[in-house]
Amino acid sequence: MPEGDTIWRTAAALRRRIGGKVVREARPAAIGRLTGRRVESVEPNGKHLLMRFEGGIALHSHMRMTGSWHLYRPGERWRQPAWRATAVLSFDDVVAVCFAAPVMELVRDAQAPVSHLGPDILVDPFDLDAVIERARRSEAPTLGELLLEQRVCAGIGNIYKCEALWKLRLDAWMAPAELDDARLRQVYLTARDLMRRNLVTPIARQRHAVHGRGGRPCPRCGTPIQIRAQGQQARLTYFCPRCQGAPARQAAPTR
Ligand SMILES: [Zn+2]
Repeated sequence: MPEGDTIWRTAAALRRRIGGKVVREARPAAIGRLTGRRVESVEPNGKHLLMRFEGGIALHSHMRMTGSWHLYRPGERWRQPAWRATAVLSFDDVVAVCFAAPVMELVRDAQAPVSHLGPDILVDPFDLDAVIERARRSEAPTLGELLLEQRVCAGIGNIYKCEALWKLRLDAWMAPAELDDARLRQVYLTARDLMRRNLVTPIARQRHAVHGRGGRPCPRCGTPIQIRAQGQQARLTYFCPRCQGAPARQAAPTR
């Protein structure tokens, strides 16, 4: 599942390999108009990726839970089946393939698909004031759901939601209103710090404290990590019931 930092790394790789190059063939037919156009820029924004082409046209892809861009040499075997490809851009010396992106569309106004998003968590400078303002207007009932709200702050995914809350010993089920602005700022800055560190560390070497570690000991107190679905989308929240103040929640009905 891609998070903002994955999209950033993907955008950087695409920029390096296809930036300034001319598309020799674009498939499927819905994006065929890109054939013959030069790539002007590749920009990440939250979980969205925008590729701008000469002539004022852009390819917007949204990765959600499943999408990923790959780069191959011409003729190289793909790591996923061709039927899963939602876009194939062939250049002279490289082929960019996007698999299973739920959104793949050509747009005239490259900003339109991302205009609803909050400030990107990875951008410098990070507009934390705007994030807090948006957070206070959000109707997200719990802190865990608020952190995944891309209209408040773009790019935080489930992994960094869990990790940041564990680091600050915060209960994912608490109401955002229970935190004052200073503490809420700390939550976003912690998520940003964890994600920025991962921009320079290869994925295989990432170690998470709680995410993906259900039943294993909390690195801080040794209590087994718990997993519980949260919110309408039932995203799995990994947490330490001891460090993160869970007792009050356990008495509440299952949500
Ligand atoms: Zn713990």
